[in-house]
Amino acid sequence: MHEKISHPCIQHKLALIRDQATGHKKFRELATEITMFLCYEALKKIKVRKVTVQTPIAEAECHMIAEDLVVVPILRAGVGMLEGILDLVPTARVGFVGMYRDEKTKRPVSYYQRLPTETKDALCIVIDPMLATGGSTAAAIDILKQGGARSIVVVCIVTCPEGLATVEKAHPDVSIYTASIDERLDERKYIVPGLGDAGDRLYGTS
Ligand code: URA
Repeated sequence: MHEKISHPCIQHKLALIRDQATGHKKFRELATEITMFLCYEALKKIKVRKVTVQTPIAEAECHMIAEDLVVVPILRAGVGMLEGILDLVPTARVGFVGMYRDEKTKRPVSYYQRLPTETKDALCIVIDPMLATGGSTAAAIDILKQGGARSIVVVCIVTCPEGLATVEKAHPDVSIYTASIDERLDERKYIVPGLGDAGDRLYGTS
């Protein structure tokens, strides 16, 4: 399952973040804001528990988040989405997965993993701004599942039909939330029109 979040507030910020004239400071701020909106949507069905709160006037029956949340940015660009989701759910635990693409085999290779223990009953949220070929995301999900995770969602800013097809074929149980499903990948495996290299644009390394 995938869902494109078409809310005008997200689409407005997406137009700004796509613009090549947007510098890295603004790009980072927009990535944070877009992530917060996307995660707001992606987390709409998480478990809550009833609590009673005493207001200055009376008791109020309220709901608080009861889901154990684990956020997993894929290095390096995924880190650009971390602040946005932690602003929303500050008590979430965080794990990291680093991936590179082997130029010979064209397969993603994990070079770094640091995941929280006890993910069996948690909701794991994999974040990466660009879901391009889908190879790294599918491999990150494999790693999470090997560690025991049973409930996983992916949040990305931009994706394309190829990336969605790869992840959905490998992991039909995983839902994907995005602000845009772009046209295609180019020959360098960049999303068209996309945002360019999200890591470089976040960190000013182009
Ligand atoms: N990674 C990026 O940063 N941009 C793309 O378009 C594809 C993968």
